Amino acid sequence: MINLVLFGKPGAGKGTQAAFLKATFNLVHISTGDLFRYNIKNKTALGQKAQSFMDKGDLVPDRVTIEMLEAEVDRNPEVKGFIFDGFPRTKAQAQALDVFIEAKNMKINATIALEANDDILVKRLLERGETSGRSDDQDESKIRNRFDEYKLKTAPLKDYYEGQHKFHSVNGIGSINEITERLTNLIVSLN
Ligand code: AMP
Repeated sequence: MINLVLFGKPGAGKGTQAAFLKATFNLVHISTGDLFRYNIKNKTALGQKAQSFMDKGDLVPDRVTIEMLEAEVDRNPEVKGFIFDGFPRTKAQAQALDVFIEAKNMKINATIALEANDDILVKRLLERGETSGRSDDQDESKIRNRFDEYKLKTAPLKDYYEGQHKFHSVNGIGSINEITERLTNLIVSLN
């Protein structure tokens, strides 16, 4: 079994790359952002809880997010492993994930950060916003707020995972294929 965490600021390419990696390594891809959007679209109680935070580009509270993630893992027994995309985003989420998966005799094999600078990411996100219809991709101040949330709450996880010798960083600038190759090489080298 192999369980990976994909890190990176909004627009770094986590979702795009997770789609390739999931096929190559036969993993289940769990994106907390996608799960929240699905719940909002279907007007569930969970979607209602998340919407106001997402609209502003703020993180959804930990408790709501952790419960949703754990339920999604439990919905997928007997799998070869998971790619966690956009989770954990806070230290409390990382600690909860460790406790949860250890209780299942699983472990996180690696956390991989896709690195790119803010100006490139803002441009990518605004372009994506033209076609994705995501309101949080269409407004530069919301995008910058998402980066601020990342710097404040998510970036410290680098130290958390470095402490576990699980942190890897990959250059997220280049063609989609180039980045997929960098990630694939890294994952193969983990074994
Ligand atoms: P994403 O699709 O990963 O860019 O996430 C979009 C939005 O969903 C974020 O700006 C947050 O509002 C929310 N979200 C996604 N994942 C998390 C998480 N792990 N913790 C808190 N909020 C999250």
